[in-house]
Amino acid sequence: MTRERLRLALQKSGRLADASLDLLRSAGLSVNKGANDLLYRIDNAPIDVLRVRDDDIPTLVADGVADLGVVGLNVLEERDSAARAPEEIMRLGFGRCALKIATPDKAAYEGPYALDGVRIATSYPHILSRFLDAHGVKAEIVHMHGAVEVAPRLGLAQVVCDLVSTGATLEANGLKPVQTVMESEAVLIRAPRPLPAALAPVAERFVERVRGVTAS
Ligand code: ATP
Ligand code: ZN
Repeated sequence: MTRERLRLALQKSGRLADASLDLLRSAGLSVNKGANDLLYRIDNAPIDVLRVRDDDIPTLVADGVADLGVVGLNVLEERDSAARAPEEIMRLGFGRCALKIATPDKAAYEGPYALDGVRIATSYPHILSRFLDAHGVKAEIVHMHGAVEVAPRLGLAQVVCDLVSTGATLEANGLKPVQTVMESEAVLIRAPRPLPAALAPVAERFVERVRGVTAS
């Protein structure tokens, strides 16, 4: 069955959720929250908003369950590169943060080679391992799913590689950022294949509107 409404995957709750809905509103879309928690309906365009965990957005878009999505570049880049990847349409200018190496002992860090043989805790093992490979450094990556900043205090790792915006969380844990691994912000992504004929013009119009409000 072909769908008649474009599906846009957005983070349900979290750091990108409000800004993603604000983006739709400033693009002139009227978001109807209705009774369905998983799906919001746009009243003035044939678009539905699929509300999910941010980590699932690249897969939903790559598989065509959603046509477009908004997700942090960090989540997009962390995907296993062997899997089918969604395409990036444009950066959106919100959700800015950076993935950084942080250490309790700033003086000991003189560059990536200082990470040789070190244990590094992170929620971004793929991005970190590409960074280490690019610098010819062999380190041990400890994959954690949250609260990465406590790893040094627990004795689980010597340094961390974590998302930072203000740096307050690191500071509260006695860690100092010493190296940027990647800069991130929210990006608009699309399925890696052409959309059904009925939905392509809807997507095109939506992207143009978003471009209009993002460029300013
Ligand atoms: P979900 O419940 O959807 O899985 P989450 O806990 O994984 O949410 P959030 O903490 O809401 O994710 O962060 C979503 C995105 O916001 C991040 O992937 C990142 O792109 C961006 N972001 C901006 N600033 C920060 C920050 N200081 N720390 C973490 N993420 C940030
Ligand atoms: Zn998440």
